[in-house]
Amino acid sequence: MPICVHCSTPTQALYVSYGPQHLICTKCKACGAFADPYVEHEAIIVVIDLILVKPRAYRHLLFNRKDVFAQDDTRKKVKESPATTERKAWLLLARHFLALLLVDAYLRWFYLCRDHNTSLQESMSGDLSTRLLVLWSYFNILWSTCTTMLTLHTVVLLWATVYHRAVRWIAQRQTDSSRSKIDQNELQRFKMHLIPNALLLSSLTPTFLLCLLLLWQPLSHSSEDQKQPGEWQWNEASIDWAIRSLVSGLSAGVGLGVVLPLQRTKVGALMATTILMIGWYLQFVVSQKLGMPFHSGVGVLQSDEGQIAAKLYCLAN
Ligand SMILES: [Zn+2]
Repeated sequence: MPICVHCSTPTQALYVSYGPQHLICTKCKACGAFADPYVEHEAIIVVIDLILVKPRAYRHLLFNRKDVFAQDDTRKKVKESPATTERKAWLLLARHFLALLLVDAYLRWFYLCRDHNTSLQESMSGDLSTRLLVLWSYFNILWSTCTTMLTLHTVVLLWATVYHRAVRWIAQRQTDSSRSKIDQNELQRFKMHLIPNALLLSSLTPTFLLCLLLLWQPLSHSSEDQKQPGEWQWNEASIDWAIRSLVSGLSAGVGLGVVLPLQRTKVGALMATTILMIGWYLQFVVSQKLGMPFHSGVGVLQSDEGQIAAKLYCLAN
């Protein structure tokens, strides 16, 4: 059942159709606002709100867009079995994961190996063996990026599932007078695949900003002669660090928060933060083991961990 994107209350329908071009959004019985105004808007509005880290955009995509995350679609005449719906959801998740992984690995590879191997440009136009070496360095970083991403997703999924079962266990033992404190609808609509999907959605904002930074970078290089030594490296490194840590943290917190039970309480916010902190810590440990630097933008080679990573992953001069 779809939900109101403002207060998460389930609603029978998001709109009433009076023809192909005439939709009227239904109002939420709980908060009185239109349950999901995104059904009237273009997809770009959803993307912009997602980049602006608005919880309602996450709710719209995770709970009301059946075509994106393959939840049970009640509009279908032939209803699929829950196992089929679940399998489709995990397959879609794997595709989304792979797409994001390829982009993130490329960003890391570009910043780490571009400056380290001063003959990279010449290598790309060189013989086949040199090109294969360049590709090999990318696949090495791809593998390490995949391992660190899987670590985060697995740890967060594991703890979120434990948390959900704990809340459900408590809800089953509550008295009728205190049962209203736990929203039963939140517990019922929880699906395991929503956790990694929420994390992937939250990764879109930092990835989008890092791609913008990548496109922006040549402009800074064109004015290299006028700038102070090291000035741009520091500025762009700071932006990269802020995107990787602050923006990623905010997005992941919001994404996970709309999926976990008790999302509108302090307990829910605390649990989302705690689970993410555990996931990030273990991801950091795995990154250190693999020699991958946390920072991945311009200036990565100025750090000690960047130098070590470049020797591990990049094509030698
Ligand atoms: Zn509402």
